[in-house]
Amino acid sequence: MPITANNPDRKSWLHVDKNSDFPIQNLPFGVFLTRDDIITIGTRIGDTAIDLGALHQLGYFNDIPLTDDIFLQDSLNDFIADGRKTWRAVRNRIADIFDNENDSLKNNVKHKEAVLFRLDEIEMQLPLQIGDYTDFYSSIEHATNVGSMFRDPDNALLPNWLHIPVGYHGRSSSIIPSGIPVHRPQGQTLPKKAKNPVFGPSQLVDFELEMAFITTDANDLGEPIPVEEAEEYIFGLVLFNDWSARDIQKWEYVPLGPFLAKNFASSISPWIVTLDALEPYRVSGPKPVKKQLEYLQQKGKKSFDINLEVAIRPKKAKETIVSRSNFKHMYWSMSQQLAHHTINGCPINSGDMMGSGTISGKTQNSFGSMLELTWNGEKPIKMADGSTRKFINDYDTVIMRGFCEKDGIRIGFGEVSTQLLPVFDAKK
Ligand code: MN
Repeated sequence: MPITANNPDRKSWLHVDKNSDFPIQNLPFGVFLTRDDIITIGTRIGDTAIDLGALHQLGYFNDIPLTDDIFLQDSLNDFIADGRKTWRAVRNRIADIFDNENDSLKNNVKHKEAVLFRLDEIEMQLPLQIGDYTDFYSSIEHATNVGSMFRDPDNALLPNWLHIPVGYHGRSSSIIPSGIPVHRPQGQTLPKKAKNPVFGPSQLVDFELEMAFITTDANDLGEPIPVEEAEEYIFGLVLFNDWSARDIQKWEYVPLGPFLAKNFASSISPWIVTLDALEPYRVSGPKPVKKQLEYLQQKGKKSFDINLEVAIRPKKAKETIVSRSNFKHMYWSMSQQLAHHTINGCPINSGDMMGSGTISGKTQNSFGSMLELTWNGEKPIKMADGSTRKFINDYDTVIMRGFCEKDGIRIGFGEVSTQLLPVFDAKK
């Protein structure tokens, strides 16, 4: 089935601002609470949210095989489990309904009232019941920077890095949507030159600029997913801020890897942009530095050109953009990550989430964490309000944005915006 929703000539009868991330060619999926306190699956064009549950009840999807309640859910898991053919058919249909040439809904005031919402009338929710969450470490620049800082600049990459998309199993219970504040975590850290750890608030709270992809049911226990089929099982992507406490991380991570430094919160943008919508923005990505084992070898354009930026907004001050990066820098692609994840037969389910790992570019202003941007605090960043930052301060808001642009069409992810609050105080 062709992706007719991506037609660049298509215009919507709904208003779309020139620099909107959400023209009719995007049509992401999300879950929101309506002004009537009803939870529904929806999409978005410009600054209008569209209730897909209501559209379905009114018969606008009658020619597509869907269960009656597929959009009347508090998560996208069942819809995602229906598979790529269904996602594509639904996205194509939505594009038709909102096409300038199509009058059926455009001229039906009653139906429009039931289906359309202003953004200030809705509340975005976590779009998924995330069963499992895996985080990779797939940017060669990030891995090189971290290796140079903490080990040896001459042997920054560990011997396995160019052969394996390195990853670890994260925790899904603390994944939250944009807008939910996060408390500074407490924990054990080892002060410089000390022999014994101390307990207290983390002094080095950091963001990690990442993207995450969402999977559908992909395989049975024991069954690997071949690298060239992997994209069939990827529904879409979100922006992902993988909050990290560097001082806790440094003390705890040997030998089993990240634990409490990483699982206190991870924030995602609420609209999932489909892989179908990103198709026009495909690019080659980096060439392998070393020959890869056969199950990881991938032909064709395996990456996507997604501009990314991170801003820090102090309390009562203007934001400062501290990093500009791009998803295309990822050394290991999503397909390679998924092929590797399942090569041992590990089953992947609908609603699983896979983080890319921190996405750093080659230049100093394109690094994806404060750890790298300030080189472990040695080079503080100057902010627009005159203050400086080594890491994230209490009441700072970290904002990540991402968009693709080509031939006059821009589609984006909106933002993931999260304020850091002081340590949790039960008395307050
Ligand atoms: Mn991470």
